[in-house]
Amino acid sequence: MCMARKKGKKGLLQKARKRGKIPARKAARKPVYLSDEMRQSTSYEEVLLNSIISKGKPNEIPECALIFNSVLSGLTPAMRNLHYKSGISAGRLLYRIYQRERRYTWYEESVADLVRFFENAGFSRVSYSIMPERISIKFHNCDRSNLGANLHTFEAGMVSGFLTAGKEQQVQMAEVSCSSNGSEFCHFASELPSAQQKIRETALLEGLAERVKAEAESSKDGRQHFSEEYYLLGSASLTKSEYASEMNKIIYYMGGMIGSSLGLNTAKLRRSGKKLERLFSLLNLCSMKVKGTSPLACEMQFNSLKAKKEFVDISISFLNGLLKGYATESKTIHSSIAKRNGRYIVRVTEGNKKGDYKNKG
Ligand SMILES: [Zn+2]
Repeated sequence: MCMARKKGKKGLLQKARKRGKIPARKAARKPVYLSDEMRQSTSYEEVLLNSIISKGKPNEIPECALIFNSVLSGLTPAMRNLHYKSGISAGRLLYRIYQRERRYTWYEESVADLVRFFENAGFSRVSYSIMPERISIKFHNCDRSNLGANLHTFEAGMVSGFLTAGKEQQVQMAEVSCSSNGSEFCHFASELPSAQQKIRETALLEGLAERVKAEAESSKDGRQHFSEEYYLLGSASLTKSEYASEMNKIIYYMGGMIGSSLGLNTAKLRRSGKKLERLFSLLNLCSMKVKGTSPLACEMQFNSLKAKKEFVDISISFLNGLLKGYATESKTIHSSIAKRNGRYIVRVTEGNKKGDYKNKG
C-alpha cells in the first residue's frame, strides 16, 4: 500500500518536473554544501598529517584495528575505489605539506620523506627503489593472517597521490602482494593491476573474525602499533555518509560473528567485563569502560578527534551485534549520549523486563 502510494507520487513529481513546474532535484541541491564539506575534511586531513609527521614511533593502535578498518573499507569494488581515492587525496596533501618546507629539486628526493611518513605512522622496515619507469615500495609488516585479499588499498592510493603531485603526472600504484595475503611483505608498484582483485566477502569476514578472536584471546599485546591519527586518516570510507547504513549493518554482523566466536554469552559477560573492554580497544572503536556487569552498565568514550556521529554509530552497532544474545533473553539495552568537553560519551545500561536475570545468570 505504502510503496504503491509512494510510486504514484513520484510519477506525479516527474510529470510536474517535465512540465517545468518543479525544478529537478539536482538543481535544488546547494552546491555550497559540498565545497564546505570538502574544505572541512581537508583541514581535518591536514591536522592528522601534520601530527603524524611531528610524532616519533607510535604506540597507540594495535595492528588488528587497522586490519579491521581496511577489510571493512574495501568489501566491494565501489568501496575499494573510494578507499583508494581517499588515499590519493591524503597523499597529494602530504606532498604539498612537505614541499612547503623542503622545496625539492627532484621529486625523487621526496620519496625518502614519504617512506619516513609511513614509518612514523607505524609500518615497519619500509624500503623503496626508484627506476626511470618503475617505482616500488615495500612494507615488512608483522601481520601474517593470510585473509585472502590484498588489504592496503588506502596506502596504494597515498603513494599514488604523493608521487602524482611530485612528478606532476599521473602515477598509478597497485599493491601487487600483501603481508595479509600470504606474502612476506606488502609490495606497491607503479603499474596497473593485471585484473581487478576478486574478493570473497564472506570468507574475508570470517577470516577477520578469526583474526580478531585470536588476538582477543591472546594474553600478549600485538607487536606492531600505529598512530591514532593514521587510523583516522584511513577511516574516511568507514565513516562515509553514503555507506553509513550499509556499514552499520556489516559492523553489526561482525559484532555478532566475533561475539559468538568468542562465546561472549550473558554468563561470560557477567563474570568479567574485561573481554568487552579489550575487544573495543583492540579494534580501536572507542574507549570502553564497563561499570557493572549485573546488570550490564558501560560507558563508551570518544575523544575529540573521534567525536563524530559516524564513529559513535559504528560502536553502537558493534555493541548491539555483540549483545545480540541479550535480546533473546528478554533484556533491553538502553543508550544515551552526552557531549562533554568536546568528547562524546555514550552510556549503555541494561533494562530488565522481568526482573529475573539473576535466576538466568
Ligand atoms: Zn598489504
